[in-house]
Amino acid sequence: MDYIELHKQHKANSLFGRYITLVDIEPLLEQLPKEIIGESVLGKPIYKYTIGTGQIRIFMWSQMHGNESTTTKALFDFFNCIHSNDAIGAKFLQEFTFCFLPMVNPDGAELYTRENANGVDLNRDSVDLTQPESQLLRQTFTDFKPDFCYNLHDQRTIFGTGDSGNVATVSFLAPSFNENREVNEVRSKAMNVIVAMYDELQKHIPNQVGRFDDGYNINCIGDTFISLNVPTILFEAGHFQNDYYREVSRKMIFIALISGLINIYENDIVYNKNDIYLQIPQNKIVFYDFIYKNVKINYDNKEKITNFAAQYKEELIEGKIQFNAYIVEIGDLKGKFGHFQYNAHKMMYFNEEDSIPKINQKANFTLGKDIIFVNGLKK
Ligand SMILES: [Zn+2]
Repeated sequence: MDYIELHKQHKANSLFGRYITLVDIEPLLEQLPKEIIGESVLGKPIYKYTIGTGQIRIFMWSQMHGNESTTTKALFDFFNCIHSNDAIGAKFLQEFTFCFLPMVNPDGAELYTRENANGVDLNRDSVDLTQPESQLLRQTFTDFKPDFCYNLHDQRTIFGTGDSGNVATVSFLAPSFNENREVNEVRSKAMNVIVAMYDELQKHIPNQVGRFDDGYNINCIGDTFISLNVPTILFEAGHFQNDYYREVSRKMIFIALISGLINIYENDIVYNKNDIYLQIPQNKIVFYDFIYKNVKINYDNKEKITNFAAQYKEELIEGKIQFNAYIVEIGDLKGKFGHFQYNAHKMMYFNEEDSIPKINQKANFTLGKDIIFVNGLKK
């Protein structure tokens, strides 16, 4: 199958970039037989969309973390695909019954926060269920009785695949159901689907697919659902080279959805692929957005050569997400990589006040006489 072409055909073009709110998805939902299952803390609707006549029941939810919108974009691309006259769309509707919650945390989406409007991380609320959004997610799970759960998220730009120096553009996890991180039949089913998606993604983004840490935390939704004996898969859409709007990882999540679902209906005999799963490189925090090397600074009237790093903060300003670069680390930065790297070859650092970079300063500075950096990048 030509996955890239399939995505091109079905991409929901009105959804673009990082700031995706109800205002963006409601016009698209209007055309679908959706229902409102309840309200967020601030009274926004939470939508459910159910479709398909198949035996295998798949429950997917996105944006339980409000500022993690990439998988929402991929979901709407996927909706277009299942509604099309493509053979694959028809096949999916025949094999599966889907239930989608495409934006679990609409308040967080609007505020561009991970948490909901009460400042609660909904992915740590799966036992206490203190928040209306968590309760609705759980109720939907209980009513729908899924065979598989897809827990759709974004991860930060800081993750690499092991120490390879490659960014983790997509990461997966088959969560643990106990402290010992044992593998039972339920978890093994999730691992098998991940391996199928991994195999396909390796063709498109080789060495840029990672495996998320499987430390057990029952307060996380995936750990809870897998403990309730439903194979659950965590998806993390991440960074791709120069793609801060995450249009590449959106496409990769779409490809993962399609290839994983094909694997589910084709695989009546479940081969045990746990070993292959465990060979997927683990996510590791090794990246900064910017690294500047061999920079001369003036420290206590002594000249010294050092390295420093800057990181974007995504700031919602007047309804737009701005990527503002701040200095976050100064030192040898051993084992770290930058999405943007610059070798200063011992040029002197200056900013408006100083000849030494400081943590939390904006990344606006000069190297040498006249190489100017604004918001992290060379002008
Ligand atoms: Zn998340």
